[in-house]
Amino acid sequence: MAQSAKAPKILIIYTGGTIGMVETPNGLQPFDFSHLMDNVPKIGKLGYQIESVQFPQPIDSSNMNPSYWNQIVKDIADRYDEFDGFVVLHGTDTMAYTASALSFMLRDLRKPVVITGSQLPIGDIREDGTENLISAVEVAAAKDENGDPMIQEVVISFQDYIIRGSRSTKFTSTGFHAFKSFNYPALGTIDLHINYAKPYLMRHNENLPLNPFYSMDPNILVLWLYPGITEDVVKAQLATPGIKAVILRTFGAGNAPTEQWFLDALSDAVKKGLIIYNVTQCLNGGDEQKRYYTGDMLAKAGVISGYDITVEAAVTKMMYLLGSGLSKDAIVQYLTTPIVGEMTVN
Ligand code: ASP
Repeated sequence: MAQSAKAPKILIIYTGGTIGMVETPNGLQPFDFSHLMDNVPKIGKLGYQIESVQFPQPIDSSNMNPSYWNQIVKDIADRYDEFDGFVVLHGTDTMAYTASALSFMLRDLRKPVVITGSQLPIGDIREDGTENLISAVEVAAAKDENGDPMIQEVVISFQDYIIRGSRSTKFTSTGFHAFKSFNYPALGTIDLHINYAKPYLMRHNENLPLNPFYSMDPNILVLWLYPGITEDVVKAQLATPGIKAVILRTFGAGNAPTEQWFLDALSDAVKKGLIIYNVTQCLNGGDEQKRYYTGDMLAKAGVISGYDITVEAAVTKMMYLLGSGLSKDAIVQYLTTPIVGEMTVN
């Protein structure tokens, strides 16, 4: 299809991941973007103006880290005014972390940032990458009835769902429907049509310029509780040099053992300045720290409730807040307040 002057302009940022991988004697490895696009000639039928940038060395997303997040943020910020929307091609393994990180780092975002990838490489005989890529480009180009971008936030578009980036979790390593938002409704469904769930989309009062953030602070620890965890293990982890905050993966509605050594270890850590954030191991639901005695004891030890935040959003929100140079009191305040729709506080 010929491009019209009004054709949507979309920038594709290729970071790597299975979607663009090729088989090598040592297993699947990321490959060049041109190889990927050569295998999707029908994308031209959309009639959009599509440009692309790629990581100098595309990666398996297991190698994702804050410097790569900075790179993606910079790629978007550098050309923010030029494009209607952005598609980030990314491995599925850490996609939910990147979707959460970008949600915090792309401050005052007003345009679509649509992340996708695939479980099988484009170019394989049977694969999910072609449809995921084309749908993501369409989502990034979609406008609402006022001519404004339909999506004004970071989302994952994958197989048949569009979900908020800061609510996303990868929940299957084999199924094509790899991502879910367990605590917030899908922003849209992809079937014969792309259907947007308008009441759930993010809308903004002011039209501000993008305010990119590049200072994520990774000095955190995720402490996963299990029955039988020993005092030595807990104390050794809490004594990790340099950490400023702990994501405590608790049971059920935010519960933990009430043995005295455990509660003392937590309150000593809080007194020494560590921020401890309660994030349940359950995928659905969230913390209600005050519901059980066991959770209430955590609150009394100074642990902050994460409500229904995902661990991916908790990790990246903590890196974002620690990197923002805020006081401890302000960080604690933000941890219990939604910034980009990542949690529901009740
Ligand atoms: N290991 C791959 C990655 O995350 C998996 C995938 O893309 O599905 O880069």
